[in-house]
Amino acid sequence: MKIIMLGAPGAGKGTQAKMLADKFGIPHISTGDIFRMNIKEGTELGKKAKAYMDAGGLVPDELTVDLVLDRISKDDCVKGYILDGFPRTLNQAEKLTEALAESGNIDFAVNVDVPDDAIVVRMSGRRVCPSCGASYHIVNIPTKVEGICDRCGSEVIQRADDSAETVQKRLAVYHEQTQPLIDYYKGLGLEVEIDGTQEMEKVFQDIVERLEA
Ligand code: AMP
Repeated sequence: MKIIMLGAPGAGKGTQAKMLADKFGIPHISTGDIFRMNIKEGTELGKKAKAYMDAGGLVPDELTVDLVLDRISKDDCVKGYILDGFPRTLNQAEKLTEALAESGNIDFAVNVDVPDDAIVVRMSGRRVCPSCGASYHIVNIPTKVEGICDRCGSEVIQRADDSAETVQKRLAVYHEQTQPLIDYYKGLGLEVEIDGTQEMEKVFQDIVERLEA
């Protein structure tokens, strides 16, 4: 099963994508995670991506599309995958459709819908573990010990691009560049709309029901 996750930054796509990957036994591919790993490792790609990310903008398509197309050509993707954070522009979506012309397009574009005001509250409380990638929220998904990752014991941090000013910029970028993808996938009959304001478990249940219907 090939799934893409649509929705604003902070809508809970990443959390749902991880849960779906576990349930269906397919890889979770997050372009944001790939870029962050490259930044941590100081690669050329990381150096190029960092400036765009810190400013709340998008990394250019030239750096993004081939990276994803290469990743989904790997052996662990033969049974499918979950793309989280890609595509994010109409051009990326068209390139993906083109690349999948022979093997068959994605099966579902899951649109996790959350209004902007709720997004701002969520993102300002979001904390991530820089060591193992676990994500938390100071109110909704708190760590057991304040500030410490449940999974690996490292200190959790706020992502630089989750600061209030950058969140506004990322939302503007989302509305301008990524939201049009909802219509693109609706047009292809692949869009599945989910109310992302519900409890995490209920959102997951709704997604699974729709995918298995
Ligand atoms: P995310 O973790 O998905 O919120 O992504 C964090 C940041 O990485 C975004 O704000 C972008 O700067 C960059 N990024 C992730 N995925 C893409 C993509 N498909 N196209 C362009 N930039 C991306």
